[in-house]
Amino acid sequence: MALSGIQIYKMLPQTNCKDCGYPTCLAFAMKLAAKQVELDLCPHVSEESKAQLAESATPPQRLITLKANGNEVKAGNEVVLFRHEKTYYNMPGLFVRIKDDLLADAIKEKVAAADTYSTNYVGIDLVLDGFAVEAVSGSSASFSAAVAAVRAASKKPVILIAQDAGVMAEGLKVLDGEAPLIFGAGAENWEAMADLATQYKAPLTVTGNTLDELADLVEKVKGKGIEDIVLAPATRSLHGELTTRVLIWRLAIKKNFRSLGYPVISVAGDAGDPAKEMVSAAQAISKYAGFVVIDSFAPDFVYPLIVLRQNIYTDPQKPIQVQPGLYEINNPKPTDPVLVTTNFSITYFSVANEIEGSGLPAWLLVADAEGMSVLTAWAAGKFDAERIAKSVKAFDVASKATNRTIVLPGHVAVLSGELEEELPDWNVRVGPREAVDIPAFMKQAMT
Ligand code: SF4
Repeated sequence: MALSGIQIYKMLPQTNCKDCGYPTCLAFAMKLAAKQVELDLCPHVSEESKAQLAESATPPQRLITLKANGNEVKAGNEVVLFRHEKTYYNMPGLFVRIKDDLLADAIKEKVAAADTYSTNYVGIDLVLDGFAVEAVSGSSASFSAAVAAVRAASKKPVILIAQDAGVMAEGLKVLDGEAPLIFGAGAENWEAMADLATQYKAPLTVTGNTLDELADLVEKVKGKGIEDIVLAPATRSLHGELTTRVLIWRLAIKKNFRSLGYPVISVAGDAGDPAKEMVSAAQAISKYAGFVVIDSFAPDFVYPLIVLRQNIYTDPQKPIQVQPGLYEINNPKPTDPVLVTTNFSITYFSVANEIEGSGLPAWLLVADAEGMSVLTAWAAGKFDAERIAKSVKAFDVASKATNRTIVLPGHVAVLSGELEEELPDWNVRVGPREAVDIPAFMKQAMT
């Protein structure tokens, strides 16, 4: 049961010594109750209180880590219902499913293509996380051969899907020393699967038709000493899956219901055709899946999913930034102009893409505005004439752009006079307010 801030306060020393970095014990207690700080920050808590607070200080959703060859995929450890309340920590792992009735060469080909898939989105390289190998042939030999073929083509973490513990064991032998996810404990086979999870120190999925069944089986599995659990609700409709994941998340985060305090896996590939699969995967990413298994692999299928995932799981407290500096676009010469913008990633890419699309060469000076967009940075005092002039000097822009024409974003036209004072040898121009108007501006005003 989660403790309130006042309940936690009563267990703290109440000396207000500030050693934890907070002005009062009550302020620290409130942060603890919101699970925004660790109890270790207070060095004066008694052992008795520590034991009582440990439960409250534990994240309501267990962190599960799949490992292979130095690669890790983490899920869980979340503490809020909605990202804007704080942040989400671990984006859902995206796994491509391989069925063991495929020939080894076909498996290797599919795995190699997905393994090397990478796309750059606002300066971040986005990739898939691993592979799920499913036993559909019923043959242990086919399953272990399929796992071996996957491992030969990729070093990424693996999920093993099998209902038969004997078949599962053969797959696990191939991945000995790793921590794959064992997908397959249900009401009938959970003891054998739990034994395998113990033997291979691997996390285990638990399946149930209802939340009660899930919670009951979780407790049974925990009774065998298994702590690393992933929930695999048996529901197979869009509405049912969404409702189930939302309920699980709410019960874990809001009610601290430990029996469901684990990440959930969603097998979107079971949806049937690629269109339904896309909807199912997008829904799982949007609402509370920790692992998502897809069947379809093609860049146009995967791209919207990993971009959606990136957008949802970006930390709202940390703007995505690009490195400040002087960027060359379309091979600029010393006579070409310098356009200025901030280092907020989306701003940078909007401006850089428009300049690139215009086909005209230019220098793009990216000033350090602490990752804010132009207007926000200007309003916060992080993008002013002094900072822009400092960037011009820091990146030695004058030695590269010798015609000394610098273009301010139209939104900060008000800075032009101050910038002329800061950079008396430069011709300061005011560009358009919107990035989309940059090509026309460059063609009309800069050529
Ligand atoms: S360090 Fe502990 S005793 Fe000191 S103010 Fe913080 S919570 Fe209170």
